[in-house]
Amino acid sequence: MHGYGGVEQLFYEDADEPRLTQPKEVLVKLKAASLNHIDIWNRLGATGIVVQMPHILGADGAGVVVELGKAVENVKVGDAVCLYPATGCGRCEFCLTGRDLMCIYLRVLGERLEGTYAEYVKLPAENCFPIPAGLSFEEATAFPLVGITLWRMLITNAQLKPGETLLIIGIGGGVASAALQVAKNIGAHVIVTSGSDEKLERAKQLGADHGINHRKKDFLQEVNTLTGNRGVDVVIDCVAGEVWQKSLAALARGGRLVTCGATAGGRPNDDLTAIFSKHLKIYGSTLGSREEFRQLLSFMAVKKIKPIVDSVFPLKDTAAAQRHLEEAKQFGKVVLQISG
Ligand SMILES: [Zn+2]
Repeated sequence: MHGYGGVEQLFYEDADEPRLTQPKEVLVKLKAASLNHIDIWNRLGATGIVVQMPHILGADGAGVVVELGKAVENVKVGDAVCLYPATGCGRCEFCLTGRDLMCIYLRVLGERLEGTYAEYVKLPAENCFPIPAGLSFEEATAFPLVGITLWRMLITNAQLKPGETLLIIGIGGGVASAALQVAKNIGAHVIVTSGSDEKLERAKQLGADHGINHRKKDFLQEVNTLTGNRGVDVVIDCVAGEVWQKSLAALARGGRLVTCGATAGGRPNDDLTAIFSKHLKIYGSTLGSREEFRQLLSFMAVKKIKPIVDSVFPLKDTAAAQRHLEEAKQFGKVVLQISG
C-alpha cells in the first residue's frame, strides 16, 4: 500500500525480505493470507493508526517457518503454522499481568506490524501455532482473526451453553459464519438474519435452524414468534445503528448481547429500561487472547471444523479480492494464495 485511499493504492511489487532482529522472532514463508474488514479500514486510513508507507496489509496468514531467532524453542524450521495476529509491548500494566490483548500499544499484523499480503512475514515465535490436522494452507488462514474474535465473544464473554438460543445479526461475514459453526457444534439453537435469501440458504446448509430475511420481515417479530415471545439467550450484533434496539428487545430475561463492531453506526439508541429491567448484559471485545486461540484450535480439531472459504485469489489480484469483500457478496473468508 503506497498511501491511504481506494484499491488503487495497492501495488503488487517487490519489497525487501524482512530481517530478524529479535532473539524470539521467526520468519515465515507464507502460502496463504486472508482478508478482514480491518484491512480495508487500514487502507482507507480510518483506524487512526499512522503507518509508514509503503506498508504491507494483512492480519491472517499460514505458511512454513524458514528462519529462527537465537532464543526460539517452540517451533522449528519446516513447521507448518497459522498465525496469532497480535502482540503486546511486554512492558505495560496489561502485558505484565498476562493480558497483552489489552495492551495500550497492541501491535497487530498489517497494522503497526508489516502484514501477511506477502511472501514472507516476521513475527514473535509465540504467535506461531501448528495448523490443525487436515486443513490446507488456504483453510488455515481463513479463521485466526475471526475465530479468536467470536470465541472471546461467544464462549468467554457470553458463555453460550448447549440448548440455548443464539441470534446472529447479518450472516455471511467471517465472524458471523464462524460463529454459526461454533454455536452449532456446542449444541445451540441458531437463528440468523440477512438481506440475502442466498446467504440464508447457505447458513441453513451449515446448520442454522432458522433464517430471517430482514428486508422482507421484521426480525424482532419473527424472533418473538419463533421463541413464543420468550426471546433469545444471546445476540451477536456487530451491525448496531438502528438494529441495536431490536437486538436488545430480542433478548430473553438475563440475556447477553455481544458486539465487536458497529458497521451501521456506533452511536445507537440504548433502551436502558430494557437493560436493567430484563437483567441484560452487554459485552464488547475485539480480537482474542493467545489462550483463546489455543482453545479454538483444540475445539476445531475435536469437532473437525473446516473454516468456510468463500473464494481464493492469487496475491497479485489483491485489489480485486478487497473489492469483492467491500461488495459484501461473500459467505465466509476471502483468501489470497501466495506462490513463489
Ligand atoms: Zn503492553
